Amino acid sequence: MTYDTNNIFAKILRGEAPCHKVYEDEHTLVFMDIMPQTDGHTLVIPKEAAETILELSEDALAACIKTTKRMAQAAKDAFAAEGVSIMQVNGKAAGQTVPHVHFHIFPGAIIEILKRPHAAALERPEKLDNHAKRIIAALNEKP
Ligand code: AMP
Repeated sequence: MTYDTNNIFAKILRGEAPCHKVYEDEHTLVFMDIMPQTDGHTLVIPKEAAETILELSEDALAACIKTTKRMAQAAKDAFAAEGVSIMQVNGKAAGQTVPHVHFHIFPGAIIEILKRPHAAALERPEKLDNHAKRIIAALNEKP
């Protein structure tokens, strides 16, 4: 599969498109989903260029999983959720709409979240900023 270097997450990684950033390290970037299916819907992406998890190197995958675990805890804490759900899809046929690997984190129950429309309505930037700040504060409480 040829990686599309013009996909929106590649542009965010290059700083050519904005994002509501929550966290960044050498291998991963985390930001708020702009069309959230629930409050606190966060995306974890690798810096490595890969369309799906099947092309991603094992090292980059390990980095993503490590970051995803940390972010899941922070999102759960920030939104006082009883549980936290993680979703990851690969390929158009599976429902992937942005062709750069990503992990969705949703505070709350996946069964409720999946009843809502996917990537349907843009959230207000002020609200996304506020949610990013809440997750960052939770991260700083448990570094
Ligand atoms: P998927 O459909 O699993 O590939 O998920 C892609 C996700 O990216 C959807 O939930 C979209 O709402 C989200 N999304 C699309 N464009 C952006 C963007 N510029 N910034 C943040 N999230 C985005």
